[in-house]
This record gives sequence, structure tokens and C-alpha cells, in this order.
Amino acid sequence: MAVTEAGCDLTYSKMRGIVAFFTAFIKERKMGLNDFIQKLVSNPHICQHSDVRVFLKIDENQNEETEDGNSPLCMTSPRSSLAEETQVKPSDFDYLKIIGKGSFGKVLLARHKESAKYYAVKVLQKKIILKKKEQKHIMAERSVLLKNLKHPFLVGLHYSFQTTDKLYFVLDYVNGGELFYHLQRERVFLEPRARFYAAEMASALGYLHSLHIVYRDLKPENILLDSQGHIVLTDFGLCKEGLDPNGTTSTFCGTPEYLAPEVLQKQAYDRTVDWWCLGSVLYEMLYGLPPFYSRNTAEMYNNILHKSVVLKPNVSNAGRDLLEGLLQKDRTKRLGARNDFVELKCHAFFSPINWDDLMAKKITPPFVPSVSGPTDLRHFDPEFTHLPVPGSLGNTDCLLVSSSMREAASAFPGFSYVPPAEEGFL
Ligand code: AMP
Repeated sequence: MAVTEAGCDLTYSKMRGIVAFFTAFIKERKMGLNDFIQKLVSNPHICQHSDVRVFLKIDENQNEETEDGNSPLCMTSPRSSLAEETQVKPSDFDYLKIIGKGSFGKVLLARHKESAKYYAVKVLQKKIILKKKEQKHIMAERSVLLKNLKHPFLVGLHYSFQTTDKLYFVLDYVNGGELFYHLQRERVFLEPRARFYAAEMASALGYLHSLHIVYRDLKPENILLDSQGHIVLTDFGLCKEGLDPNGTTSTFCGTPEYLAPEVLQKQAYDRTVDWWCLGSVLYEMLYGLPPFYSRNTAEMYNNILHKSVVLKPNVSNAGRDLLEGLLQKDRTKRLGARNDFVELKCHAFFSPINWDDLMAKKITPPFVPSVSGPTDLRHFDPEFTHLPVPGSLGNTDCLLVSSSMREAASAFPGFSYVPPAEEGFL
């Protein structure tokens, strides 16, 4: 008996020893792998390499493939990927207020529970996207943000993740309000103020073009002010990727008031469409209404296609000349058709702008939105902020109740995302 016990003890302790050995071995390998990944993601050049990006996505795919449909499809943070349990999921955030609405869902002010940091979380309903057959646009938005765009006047994406019925984008929280909100209150902006905003927008558009991305949907609702009064462009839902400098595309989308003639006519269009939109926004800032505006949509379309733009003399010669160049119906003659952003930079209207200072945010904004802190929502429309926050947003689980939901659950493969350089976030 004693021998057996002794034998058992021996076997057990031997087993423990072996398990301890392998546990230590695996832990060491995991740490080594983590270190390696850390080094990889901290080097932006290496991160851009397609093989490295594929490698970093292995974990994401595994996550999604092992889902049983009832759990959130989440991406781990790069610090912990392949190793620990830190996953970003809806229930990590407190959803405080609705701050905006787009065609597919809501934008909410949210606070990360652990870090107490504030973010704007854009929550899109998969079913609505699928109904409108818009997956391509949403995946385009994700993939544009995925390019890890870094520009002072473009919104930053921290994470994206999905549950069975919703997509989540965790974005910089920008709380100076929509440009449209301020423009509506003041009717028009004085020229220096309009110039400042147009210059910041132009530099962001020029940057996107340099990456072969056409923004396509520049309009006041997508142009936000940060708390210091700088421009932040949001909503990459309509961006068209992969256009080379002379490439064209012909999908019909955009906002009616700002549709360029070539888009209206379903002709091929290119990056110059953004300069048309910038002209429309600049016109509205200076004159108080979009160019070619009519309450009657058919008439407005006709104006866009056939009427020349009315430029009343209350705007400077340089301003009117710029508007004429940007609102040129023939896109091949439009300002920016040859040398893109460089042509705008050199225009007389922008001569007071020092572009290096602009990029470095060294130019003092002409207007500072007064905000007392992140929870000060005075610049957001009470129409949204007074709406009740749906309790279901923080739910991690979502039961699949119908086949359409099942379809929705699997319609966005590879959506979840953590930017490679995102370290120490949250
Ligand atoms: P979107 O669906 O991107 O057009 O967003 C709808 C509205 O939500 C916008 O017009 C803004 O008022 C608001 N919004 C979007 N993104 C942000 C953000 N990052 N920070 C603050 N508000 C935002």
C-alpha cells in the first residue's frame, strides 16, 4: 500500500514537474512572441509591409472563426494579442449620450470604464446596412480608417469591433460641434475664418489624395471642430479607395447639394470631385447657402449641370476666383485637375496661409468653441443628446434569432481592427 502511495506520489510529482516545465516554456515563448510583436508594431515602416499586416491579422481571423454566434467578435489589443485575455468589447464602455445620427446608426459619447477616457463610438446596425446593400461602403470606411491615417485634420480610429448585430467604431471624441451647427448660427463666416477652415480641409483632402483615396462626401455635417477650433473630418463611409492619380470611378453617391456635375451625370469621376465639394462648402461658408441651391431638387440638379455659379461681389476677387476654379463644371479644367492640392496651395486666396504652420496647428483658430470639458455637449444638437441611450449597446451577447440576423452576423468578415501602432490605448 505504502509502495503504491509512494509510487503515486512519485508519478504525481513527476507530472507536476513536467507540467511546470511546459508551462514555463510556453510562457517564455509567449513572452518572446509578444516582445517580437511589440517591436514589430512599434516600427511604422515594418508595419506597412503587407506580409506583416497579414501576420498581425492572424489573431483577428482566429477570433472570428471560433465564434459560435453568441459572443462578441472582438479584436484583442496589440499589447496582449496572441497572449492574454484583454479584448475590447461593447461592455467595456459606458454609453453616456447620443451625439449624432448617420444613415446606419448612432454616434455616442462613451467613456472607457477602466481608463475613464472619452471616445465617440459609432454604432452601426448590420441589418440596416445589409438592407441598403451598403456593406461595401462600410467596409470601405473601415479599410480607409485601417490604413492608419494620421493627419491633424482627420478623425483617428482607435478600434473597431463587432457583435452579431452591430458594428462599432471607436473614434477620437471631437466636441466643438459640427461646422454646419456654427454656420447655421452665424449664417455666414467672414473671409479669414472661411479661409482657415478651407485650408485645413484642403490639406486633409490633399493628404487623402496622396494615398489614392477620394473622400467624396465633404459637407458641413461631416466637418467637425475640435475643442480648440481646428477642423476634423469624419465619416469615411463614402470614400473611394485605390484610385491612382488619373483613375476614375462612377458609383453614384454623395449629398445632393454638393454633387458634382460628373457624379450627377453618372460619368466617371476622380479626385477632382473633392475640389468641387470643397468649392461648395467654401461657397456656403461665404454666402450662406450652397451654390446652385434650390428647394426644388430637380431644379437644383439642373442648376448644377447647366447654370453658371452666381458670385456676388461681397466676397473678395481672390475668393471669387477660387470658387470659380473649384466649381468648374468640366472636371478636366477644374482647379486641382493637374497638380491637385499644390494648385490650391498656390492660389491667391490662400496667400495669407503659412502651410507648414497650418499643418503644425500653429495658426490660432479664428473661433474657439467654448467647452468646459468632455461632458459639455452644448455644441451638439439637443435633438440627439436628449434621446435615451439604448441599454442594449453595452450588451456583449446577442442571441441569433432569425436567419437574417445570422446573415448579418457573418456579413462583415475581418471588420474588427486595432491599429498597429496603437500602444497603451485605453
Ligand atoms: P456620421 O455617421 O459619421 O455622419 O456621424 C453622424 C454625426 O455624429 C456627425 O454629423 C457628428 O455630429 C457626430 N459625430 C461623428 N463622429 C464624431 C466624432 N468623432 N466626435 C464627435 N461627434 C461625432
